[in-house]
Amino acid sequence: MHSAEPNVPLTSTASPGADGLQDLLDSNRRWAEATKAREPGFFTRLARQQSPRYMWIGCADSRVPANEITGLDPGEVFVHRNVANLVVHSDLNALSTIQFAVEHLKVRHIMVVGHYGCAGVRAALRGLRIGLADNWLRHVQDVRLRHRGRLDHLPPEQQEDVLCEMNVIEQVGNVALSTVIQDAWARGQPVAVHGWVYGLKDGLLKDLGVTMQAHTEVVDVFARALKRYPRGDSAAAGGEG
Ligand SMILES: [Zn+2]
Repeated sequence: MHSAEPNVPLTSTASPGADGLQDLLDSNRRWAEATKAREPGFFTRLARQQSPRYMWIGCADSRVPANEITGLDPGEVFVHRNVANLVVHSDLNALSTIQFAVEHLKVRHIMVVGHYGCAGVRAALRGLRIGLADNWLRHVQDVRLRHRGRLDHLPPEQQEDVLCEMNVIEQVGNVALSTVIQDAWARGQPVAVHGWVYGLKDGLLKDLGVTMQAHTEVVDVFARALKRYPRGDSAAAGGEG
């Protein structure tokens, strides 16, 4: 049967660069067969249309796959990932993805999902130089600077975890303040923005309690979320809100 299939097996003689990839193709065939057996019509249904209820904005880190973590099948979550799960106001890639998700797919929930142990957050916190991404991670350093009064008094390891959380909270705010979400709320479209953080060590998601579902609550929810992180010496906290 396999010889009649269009996928010619990749071997080391066919392509030296494809070493090991045959395992992935074989695994894919088994997955497709098992999925079809479990749910006949699964692929034909999905091929016609996707109608996910959720959009996931997460880190590119290979250990944080949206579908697996949440037990969702293909077609159930629309995904955008980049280094350190950032939503930058001028990033047309992220904004276009959010716009498509909200205006065409009509997702009901957008989750910004950070994770503890994020190399991008760590590099930003410690000022490590890793290359071109330094410029991208400047946005995380901006978050750190803005909230240094709530960060600098903590032990280093805790600083990293808290910055992961604060970065998520900031990005939730950025999604909520985007023209796409502001317009959606203005026309009465129900869409909620949430902030979660994932633990690599236990595989668990934590809700940061920063859900926003109307333009009137953005500032309050944001301020309440930040107040959960106590300041150190108030004299050293600068002029933060
Ligand atoms: Zn990461």
